[in-house]
Amino acid sequence: MSNTNNVMNEGLPSNVICSDPYGCTFEEIVELLGEKSGRAFFRTLYKEKPKIQNQTIKVNSIENGGDTKKYAFELNDGYCIETVSITRKTGTTVCVSTMVGCPIGCTFCESGSNGFIRNLSASEIVQQVILMKDKINRIVFMGMGEPLLNYDTLIKAIHILRDRNGLDFPTDGITISTVGPLKELKKLREEHIKIQLTLSLHATTQAVRDRLIPNMKGQDIGKIVESVLSYSERHNRKITIAYLLIPGVNDKSSDVRQLGRWFRDKNVLINLLQYNETKCGKIVRPNKQQLVAFKLRLEQSGLEVKIRESRGGRIKAACGQLVSEHNKKSKAKNQHQSPNSHDGTTVVEQFHVKKCKTCLQKESCALRASGKHCQ
Ligand code: SF4
Repeated sequence: MSNTNNVMNEGLPSNVICSDPYGCTFEEIVELLGEKSGRAFFRTLYKEKPKIQNQTIKVNSIENGGDTKKYAFELNDGYCIETVSITRKTGTTVCVSTMVGCPIGCTFCESGSNGFIRNLSASEIVQQVILMKDKINRIVFMGMGEPLLNYDTLIKAIHILRDRNGLDFPTDGITISTVGPLKELKKLREEHIKIQLTLSLHATTQAVRDRLIPNMKGQDIGKIVESVLSYSERHNRKITIAYLLIPGVNDKSSDVRQLGRWFRDKNVLINLLQYNETKCGKIVRPNKQQLVAFKLRLEQSGLEVKIRESRGGRIKAACGQLVSEHNKKSKAKNQHQSPNSHDGTTVVEQFHVKKCKTCLQKESCALRASGKHCQ
């Protein structure tokens, strides 16, 4: 094995430590290499310029939209994921993906319209942060995929990013944005990591939410709200409620009243979002006046509200848009995914319990979106 100096200067060959060091925690690396070499190697991974021999993802393209940059990263199996960096006066936020595609199928989202392909590994999640060209001061798990449905991997990646022997990323600067699967929300409440939480709510009734977020059917909207409020209380965190305003669908007086009942006098910020157009074309985009008017009604109801500016329109910054075509082609090439491509996805157990007549797997297979499998 190389001595520490060699470790510092060249990095260990990846097969000496593990084929994928960004997926290893500090403790795992120390266990393999010993305290001194392990500590030094972990430092090189996070304090120095990333070395190509340690990477399992590579930049396929970067689209530059001024303060918003969109990276398409290519994975070892040919699929692509998106990572967006957004620079504001307060610093740069990176919006990280946790899956290739997504099983949730939100009607307003390109990633959802293409179906689920596979979960990302902890290493693939960590590398999206490491390979950013700008200095990052906020990480938001809000790219492709539902982060809580890749739960163990997500938590491991967060531990790696926060490790003070490496990147030492502040917990305060990490946000999980979720549609709120109940089982995972409960688990998250019990974790000893006080990360920020955003709930993508988008509706006040079960019927409207089921229409907008079809694969969350059966998950009670009231219980989801209760769960995030419980997280807020336990961890003393302000929760953000993301609400995509859709005129005629979720902007009624009854919606204002229900949001007031749930969130008045709670530690909650409502973030009103304007639809970022995709090719889906099913959603009506509100104009600025409609957003401002709805904000005012919510404020009169005693709520704290912000309008989140829509960014990156000219570089296809809505989730999934940039790599959608690429992944469709890769998916067609890999007609049948290996069983591993479905591992660990609770959405599978929760939402696609019928066996697919074509591939006989219980879960949603990669071709579900095309209508060829998983009827
Ligand atoms: S909005 Fe998020 S949860 Fe919904 S389909 Fe897109 S990636 Fe999945």
